[in-house]
Amino acid sequence: MTQVLGKRLSGFDVAVVGAGIVGLAHALAAARAGKRVVVIDRDLRANGASIRNFGFITVTGQERGEHWSLARRTRDIWAEIASEAGIAIEQKGLIVTLRRLEAITVAQAFLNTEMGVGCELLDAREFRRRFGPIAAQDALGALVSPHELRVESPAALPRLVAWLESVHDVTFLTETAVYTVDPPRIETSRGRIEAEVAIVCPGDDFVTLFPDRVATYRLKKCRLSMLRLASPGFRLPMPVMSDLSLVRYRGYAALPQAETLRRTLALEQAAHLANGVHLIVVQSADDSLVLGDSHHYGDLPPPFAPAEAEACILDEFRRATGVNPPPVLERWVGTYAVADDRNYFIDAPSNNVRLVIVTSGTGASTGFGIAERTIADLFR
Ligand SMILES: Cc1cc2nc3c(=O)[nH]c(=O)nc-3n(C[C@H](O)[C@H](O)[C@H](O)COP(=O)(O)OP(=O)(O)OC[C@H]3O[C@@H](n4cnc5c(N)ncnc54)[C@H](O)[C@@H]3O)c2cc1C
Repeated sequence: MTQVLGKRLSGFDVAVVGAGIVGLAHALAAARAGKRVVVIDRDLRANGASIRNFGFITVTGQERGEHWSLARRTRDIWAEIASEAGIAIEQKGLIVTLRRLEAITVAQAFLNTEMGVGCELLDAREFRRRFGPIAAQDALGALVSPHELRVESPAALPRLVAWLESVHDVTFLTETAVYTVDPPRIETSRGRIEAEVAIVCPGDDFVTLFPDRVATYRLKKCRLSMLRLASPGFRLPMPVMSDLSLVRYRGYAALPQAETLRRTLALEQAAHLANGVHLIVVQSADDSLVLGDSHHYGDLPPPFAPAEAEACILDEFRRATGVNPPPVLERWVGTYAVADDRNYFIDAPSNNVRLVIVTSGTGASTGFGIAERTIADLFR
């Protein structure tokens, strides 16, 4: 029997291509369905979007309807597996600081939808009383959500891999490029792997596998700028967003009330909007902050991060929290797939192959829910 790195290469029910969070989510869903699973990745470990992100598992603000439901389901699965897999939940919940009356109006409208369940709108006094260290002088209030979780992705993903290997008997084949997928034959740089079914989760690699299928979705790439700042000297009570997030995250941005806010922001923060900047701040176990982000789109966004985008992110941090940004410790960029007309897709190149791409920069927040749908579709 063929073996590579001491691992048997045949007899699998499911082969997953891609060990990012979407691939790992599919490995879990398949293993929970009783399948023998192999995960194949060209890298030694996930090194792309899945570890460059905030690790912010966001429910509030996800697009109303299916995507919001997928996020709730994904959050529940993260909560279930975190302690089993030894993954630390670094933070819970979300505070959206509100500095404009137009932003308060959007938050009120949001609370009146089904998505507002469990969330609350604080006035300026209550915001200051409960969250003083991050209440800017001009803060008018805050929207607070209890639904979110935050993990440190570069630490969480290896733990998820180790747990899938040891508890769910998932085989991992790393530093192995997949060239063709035609189950039961999967041709790789280490030879043929055999599996009944294949699930391809290639992130923003649009050209190696099923390029013609991928092309039908008219995808582009989005490049984001990210920063790690030194400790601000206090614990952030929850991850933080701001007014700008209300015109970016579709759960708020699609509300009619967001249009007035968008017009105000276009006048007052044109450079931020031009760089696709909104604010997310999360905090790590060592108290350092992960801060972002900007959004630049293209077929191949260059790796050069504009200084203006970084300046806008730091500026929004100062405005939204009233805190002067601590020194920058690290900078990086990341990219993910985007589509104009959908948040993700599950494509079927054949009966026993699925191609799954999250096209809205929300894979950590929705991947586990999407994976359950893929497995239900394949094995119904
Ligand atoms: C800066 C940044 C911040 C973000 N913040 C958040 C956040 O806080 N919350 C959230 O929910 N989402 C966030 N996102 C989005 C989220 O990270 C992505 O949606 C998600 O990581 C996509 O996961 P993936 O597994 O599809 O892709 P990837 O992480 O890109 O993984 C794809 C994997 O497939 C492998 N691969 C591809 N083709 C082949 C092949 N032919 N052979 C072998 N291996 C192959 C690659 O090597 C790679 O490891 C953020 C993204 C970025 C860039």
